[in-house]
Amino acid sequence: MITRISPPDKKALAFAKEEIARGGVVAFHTETVYGLGANAFDGGAVAHIFALKGRPADNPLIVHVHRDYDLSALVDDIPPYAKALERAFLPGPLTMVYPSVGKVSPLVSCGLNTLAVRVPSSETAQAFLRTVGLPIAAPSANKSKHVSPVTARHVYDDFQGEIPLILDGGACSGGIESTVLDCTGDVPQILRAGLVTREMIESVAGKCAVYRMRTGEKPKSPGMAHQHYAPKCRTACFSAEEREKARLCYEEELRAGGTPFYVCERALLPFLSGNALDLGGDPAEMAARLYAVLREGEQKATLLIAIEPKERGGVMDGVLNRFCRAFGRDHET
Ligand code: AMP
Ligand code: MG
Repeated sequence: MITRISPPDKKALAFAKEEIARGGVVAFHTETVYGLGANAFDGGAVAHIFALKGRPADNPLIVHVHRDYDLSALVDDIPPYAKALERAFLPGPLTMVYPSVGKVSPLVSCGLNTLAVRVPSSETAQAFLRTVGLPIAAPSANKSKHVSPVTARHVYDDFQGEIPLILDGGACSGGIESTVLDCTGDVPQILRAGLVTREMIESVAGKCAVYRMRTGEKPKSPGMAHQHYAPKCRTACFSAEEREKARLCYEEELRAGGTPFYVCERALLPFLSGNALDLGGDPAEMAARLYAVLREGEQKATLLIAIEPKERGGVMDGVLNRFCRAFGRDHET
């Protein structure tokens, strides 16, 4: 199969519509990361997504719809606080989890009685969803465990020859996956941190809880229990206070004949000598750059030496969650 990368012009959208109608899979740009989409009503098509990604069968998918889609066709019992959040943040990088009415394939939610829904703001995603006219189940368009894709080229690198079309909307401006918010309780609860932050949700809903998985517990957001976002090369990770250790690690790799690269926030760059990849200067920039930096790093380095950014709260909750999981480090969220 030839994998075409195309902007969402008339021809590409018509092809995408046909492909989705016959149970195929199409990758598309969103403002967070690229998605790998299929008709959420079609169990065979949804199963194909899992097979293509090598995704564990207990990791549910998010259903994407266009901005005028009537969510009551898919979910029930939307509480008033969630309506207010929808008004404030949709379309955008916020996924809402509601009780499912059971219309989509049970494979989408892996048998859970809830459904995660999202209205992306990306114009490419909107054009695709509107043209197709169906709810589209879509995880990130990367092989399971690999770094999420933030350009069409990243998708191509993982799925060349396996999918017919990537709808190219350029680099993803957000850069990390959507905030996943459980809206089945009295208070909204963040299951996965993202660009719609706890502080933003609190400002609209009054309250916002953050889910923390306890050891041994069945996770509420199954995806969070899986290893994720790992670059293909070896990695090491240090706190900002451990800069000297990071330097020693760098020199040891050089002596062993390897090619080490630091991965750190911009403010640290003047204090390091040698190869370094710039994560960015502020939290939003770090979110936008993280996955591209990890993908660049795995191509260039034998060892990526990460130094944890210092800032906490807001967008950094999401950035640090992905950063720590990419580098196998424990993190609170
Ligand atoms: P991905 O699209 O690869 O970013 O993964 C979607 C993530 O959304 C999953 O890993 C889950 O953690 C979360 N998710 C999807 N559906 C549900 C659901 N019904 N309940 C809770 N979390 C969900
Ligand atoms: Mg993913």
